[in-house]
Amino acid sequence: MLTCKEQVARSSDYLDGQLSFRERLMVRHHLMFCPNCRRFIRQMRLMQATLRAMPEEPVVGVDELAERLASEQRKHRD
Ligand SMILES: [Zn+2]
Repeated sequence: MLTCKEQVARSSDYLDGQLSFRERLMVRHHLMFCPNCRRFIRQMRLMQATLRAMPEEPVVGVDELAERLASEQRKHRD
């Protein structure tokens, strides 16, 4: 059985479908018994999905966003 460290090292390849059949089985086997790694894989998958959903170029810069939020807050206070 894989150690957690070995499991983590294979995680992104696992999610990308890059592992061999044998390695995929080993990862699945580990995930069956290890709630920590299950949670880790789930978070990685979420993160990948989020990254894919984001546009290539941010529509607004972080500064502009912060500025906008600040002015929204000012509006609500008045
Ligand atoms: Zn583990």
